[in-house]
Amino acid sequence: MDSQVEALKAEIVAIGRRVYERGYVASNDGNISVRLGSDRLLMTPKSVCKGFMTPDMMCITDLDGKKLQGDRDPSSEMLMHLEVYRQRPDVQAVVHAHPPTATGFAVAGIPLNRAVLAEVLTTLGSIPIAEYATPSTKELPEAVRRYIKAHDGMLLANHGALTVGADLYAAYYKMETIEHFAHISLVARILGRENLISREEVERLQGLRDTYGIKAPAPICATDEPSRDPAGCQVVDAPSRAGVRLVPSDNPDGEIRLTYRELSALIEEAVRSLR
Ligand SMILES: [Zn+2]
Repeated sequence: MDSQVEALKAEIVAIGRRVYERGYVASNDGNISVRLGSDRLLMTPKSVCKGFMTPDMMCITDLDGKKLQGDRDPSSEMLMHLEVYRQRPDVQAVVHAHPPTATGFAVAGIPLNRAVLAEVLTTLGSIPIAEYATPSTKELPEAVRRYIKAHDGMLLANHGALTVGADLYAAYYKMETIEHFAHISLVARILGRENLISREEVERLQGLRDTYGIKAPAPICATDEPSRDPAGCQVVDAPSRAGVRLVPSDNPDGEIRLTYRELSALIEEAVRSLR
């Protein structure tokens, strides 16, 4: 057991470094946790930079958040982590960060729910936005509760993103996928259109989840009514007929107004980072 605990502490340290180096957090932002057996959690402490953690900083708590071991106090977002573990017995690990492009969507109130990338559809389905809640309070777990049963990743309005998985790396990679997807979505919207994948193709991708062994918490609901309640399934915006659909220019969610200079700078930066 001890060697397992040490291995998990080392994994949290490694993931913390990646989260920080990739700019998904600044300063002491973000938090990471993992289940230890059936009744305990290993968690990052509050008020440390995730890029410079050491294994001895980690806390062990019970499933109610009572500290059992560690010199430091557990993460200020512990309540959100506890709620995820309560709602999702299948989840082994939770990652919370503020990746800038995804968080930009969370600030703009634009969910990542368009059927545009096959791999995102098979892994995450859709990425909804949990309503704004004051960080570190019990409001945040309440906001997350509505979506966590059906989603492995979500945006947190005016705050950041949350991902979960069957182990630490699975949860972390979903955070990478969300940020990458947000970046690609931003570039497509700057370029002026997104060709959506058809509903029929989305249904085919849903079938591929079994082939890939992807255990999604809920099925994808492909619809052209993206306002549908995403609490029970993964709602994606996909047209019912195959073919190209342009983002309507009168769609307030899809429209971003920029000056020519801002647009050129963004495209340049996006092309550089996607190279
Ligand atoms: Zn946060």
